Amino acid sequence: MPFSLTAVKIGVATRPARPRRISILGATGSIGESTLDLIGRNPPAYQVVALTGGQNVTRLAELAILHRAELAVIADPSRYADLHTALAGTGIEAGAGDEALLDAASRPADWVMAAIVGAAGLKPTLQAVRQGTATALANKECLVSAGAIFMAEVTRANTILLPVDSEHSAAMQIMAGAPKERIERICLTASGGPFRGWSREQMAEARPEQALNHPNWSMGPKVTIDSATLMNKGLELLEAHHLFSLAPSQLDVLTHPQSIVHCLVYLSDGAVLAQMSCPDMRTPIAYSLAWPERMHVPTKRLDLAEIGALTFEAPDMERFPALRVAKEVLAAGGSAGTVLNAANEVAVEAFLAKRIGFLAIAALVETALEKSADLATLSPQNVDDVLAIDSETRQRAKALLGRFA
Ligand code: NAD
Ligand code: MG
Repeated sequence: MPFSLTAVKIGVATRPARPRRISILGATGSIGESTLDLIGRNPPAYQVVALTGGQNVTRLAELAILHRAELAVIADPSRYADLHTALAGTGIEAGAGDEALLDAASRPADWVMAAIVGAAGLKPTLQAVRQGTATALANKECLVSAGAIFMAEVTRANTILLPVDSEHSAAMQIMAGAPKERIERICLTASGGPFRGWSREQMAEARPEQALNHPNWSMGPKVTIDSATLMNKGLELLEAHHLFSLAPSQLDVLTHPQSIVHCLVYLSDGAVLAQMSCPDMRTPIAYSLAWPERMHVPTKRLDLAEIGALTFEAPDMERFPALRVAKEVLAAGGSAGTVLNAANEVAVEAFLAKRIGFLAIAALVETALEKSADLATLSPQNVDDVLAIDSETRQRAKALLGRFA
């Protein structure tokens, strides 16, 4: 497949003289908070339109008041009264539930951060895309689950899509300076997570609090567990495939425990371009926020002499089978990504609830894929078709939980 960057529109955006209108879907999470940290450093430059959260009313109300949002929406409809009370007298509108999330995504804005975790983010993110709002995409599950449909919507709406995942942000930064047709392949780096040096026997006993203790990155629980199983890097291969229209054979993974080099782009003349930074998500978030310009971000500056050595190794797919399973899904295409994502969300949730062990995450996902071969070969025509496959897979994966308990 020829390389194409048509998916990610690169050009010179015109900046309004007025403050930029910004919305954040998933404002109370790790990415949402980091985005608000950047916005809060230069308040006159931004006008916060809508902020959304999943369950945490107290934090959502605090953020909405601090950043003078126009609208705050909590996903859980049973929390509406609490949010309404918390915002009483502030003039900030309160909303709750699925429709209100779509309303938040529909509010006219110049830029939206899509940082809801999981397939739950699909509809609100697509709503923002359809509005033509420049969309900073942190939610990788959207692309894993519904990549072809999602990217078709981006193209149809002529929306600017800015990847936030550090590896994909790095890829976009590098590719902006390389002729598309001269890119042979790209390699995403993986830290290896907290269990990089662990045996399978040790991992069998791993507890959620150990898996949540990522050596380099501070992130929400789902992506941290995905990083420990290496499923995260598998999801990121699917993400890169859809974002950059790259064939599976052009996508690779390298373990790099220091998390300094985020992506390597191999060119046809033998040159390899890398992007580096200290591991702090505010750097890729800032790239998406300031694009096509750059902004000041007070992160720790990279000191290679202090670090001394950058090391790389091939990922071990025997100890970390989730990466192998995701690569098989990438090769299979179709709706295998929808099944992979839904089964993985069920498995990660069950592990965090201590219902299954760490090794059962990948095992359950692989079994769910085997049991859902009929779903993985379907050709969904729209998001509702994708969500129907997602929902059926979740039911089947939940029915399998007892077997892995
Ligand atoms: P998080 O768990 O910290 O935050 C998730 C946000 O989504 C919260 O605001 C939460 O309240 C909200 N949410 C959860 N369930 C919801 C639901 N059903 N409906 C509506 N809102 C809901 O997660 P995060 O680490 O900020 O990650 C967000 C996304 O960004 C994920 O897809 C993740 O893979 C991706 N990502 C995160 C990082 C990182 O450093 N945190 C890096 C790369 C990619
Ligand atoms: Mg990443």
